[in-house]
Amino acid sequence: MPESSASVRDPFRRRGVLFVLSSPSGAGKSTIARKLLAAEPGLEMSVSATTRAMRPGEVDGKDYHFVDIERFRHMANNGEFLEWAHVFGHRYGTPHEPVDRALEQGRDVLFDIDWQGAQQLFQQAGGDVVRVFILPPGLDELRRRLIARGTDSMDVINARMERAAAEIGHWDGYDYVLVNDDVEHCFNCVQTILRAERLKRSRQQGLIGFIRSMVKER
Ligand code: 5GP
Repeated sequence: MPESSASVRDPFRRRGVLFVLSSPSGAGKSTIARKLLAAEPGLEMSVSATTRAMRPGEVDGKDYHFVDIERFRHMANNGEFLEWAHVFGHRYGTPHEPVDRALEQGRDVLFDIDWQGAQQLFQQAGGDVVRVFILPPGLDELRRRLIARGTDSMDVINARMERAAAEIGHWDGYDYVLVNDDVEHCFNCVQTILRAERLKRSRQQGLIGFIRSMVKER
């Protein structure tokens, strides 16, 4: 393969995408995130720290870093978070270091964070963030999904429903808004957005030298 074409196709020569997925819980965001990670090599999940209790089936270090309030405070005071917020009476934060490492290596990072996190990340990254909001097909359907999930008490579900309405009110802080009435279709849309964002001119520094050489050769 000629040297120029090898370097043009080198995925490490493009700036990584910070890709945020937000939605009220139960809108299908976790399923879509899982499918996207499986389908897209070069994309890695940002694992947040949280003070909330671990749910059955969750794995420490994979779903979240489960920490106590003292540890969380220490991490926040130490500047270890890119952003953090109170959600449902608990604290959630995005550790800085793995994101920096991924971007340095030209990888993209997927964030499952709420609207407050999306806003803070947007400011931290000087606007270079892709923000996708996933809506449930309706509030009745959302309640049905939360009950079917079987992980939360009715009190928690009612609180999540209230919060869902508040969360949906922030839809205009996102670049893309999708309705998840069909998980395959919604996943295809999210994947298309990621692929298109990767190809944006501003992210493809690897092309600059290649294009300059062509312009010179003319
Ligand atoms: P859950 O407790 O259901 O896993 O998550 C509750 C909410 O917290 C979700 O909306 C999720 O997107 C959000 N969340 C998870 N990690 C973070 C984080 O690091 N920062 C912020 N701001 N929100 C988060």
